[in-house]
Amino acid sequence: MPIIKAENLSYDYVRRDENDNIVDSIHALSDINLEIEEGQFVAVIGHNGSGKSTFAKLLNALLIPTSGKLFVGGIDTADESRLWDIRRTAGMVFQNPDNQIIASVVEEDVAFGPENMGVPTEEIRRRVDAALKTVGMTKFAKSSPNRLSGGQKQRVAIAGALAIMPKCMIFDESTAMLDPIGRAEVMSVAKKLNKEQRLTIIFITHYMEEAAQADRVIVMNKGKIVMDGIPREVFTETEKLTACGLEPPQMTMLAKDLRDAGLALPHGIISAEELADALRVLKGQ
Ligand code: ADP
Ligand code: MG
Repeated sequence: MPIIKAENLSYDYVRRDENDNIVDSIHALSDINLEIEEGQFVAVIGHNGSGKSTFAKLLNALLIPTSGKLFVGGIDTADESRLWDIRRTAGMVFQNPDNQIIASVVEEDVAFGPENMGVPTEEIRRRVDAALKTVGMTKFAKSSPNRLSGGQKQRVAIAGALAIMPKCMIFDESTAMLDPIGRAEVMSVAKKLNKEQRLTIIFITHYMEEAAQADRVIVMNKGKIVMDGIPREVFTETEKLTACGLEPPQMTMLAKDLRDAGLALPHGIISAEELADALRVLKGQ
């Protein structure tokens, strides 16, 4: 059974006047069909307004489909009686680290989710310690979140989501407000959760270099899925990406320029290591 399954999923933002008449309606997602298997690391990319955050909010039942179906861990997200089961299955990390941390002490913040779910005290302690260890923030357990860097705050937010022990973690542009070090920290934790705990990761990002590290890349445009494949397939379709307002990874473009200039480099290069390897081969080393 896939952990996420969308069937003809659509979502419209509807605005009504004071008499409840519809003023306007924005089709944020149109007729999405999608399956994500447990344990996959899936990147979702797309221009601003393409529907990525709407999809993320649907996954966490913050929004309910206008039409079609969305199943998370086999549960229909429209089933109100299962709301907490859905939120327990799919943890969420948002863009702004400052909006996600509520408590004045790191470990209290991480404990917030399980406390709200009525988890017994000793079990909360165990989960908080394990979550902080996983994200490498144990030594900041008693610190004030205010004193942390953006990347550290996001790691605390990830620990908070982990403490509810989800099967799936959704990152909605969680690296967008971070410096390069913070971005690398968040990416590395996401990869670790995927590898070591087999968590399914949905990583929404506008950094192509991050998406290139996923098992699978989904490209959204105007509320639809327009490309879906392994990074190498998706990123070498440079014209299609450009048509969606996206820039292919820098290394893919550099390899293309070098090829155009006469170097016999292979197609499908998406990272610096791959380009370095290909250049080495070309030099006969
Ligand atoms: P992305 O995350 O890819 O930038 P969103 O899912 O936020 O895209 O937005 C998809 C579309 O829905 C856009 O046209 C956006 O303007 C619209 N939209 C998003 N949130 C709202 C909202 N709360 N009310 C009305 N329209 C919205
Ligand atoms: Mg968004």
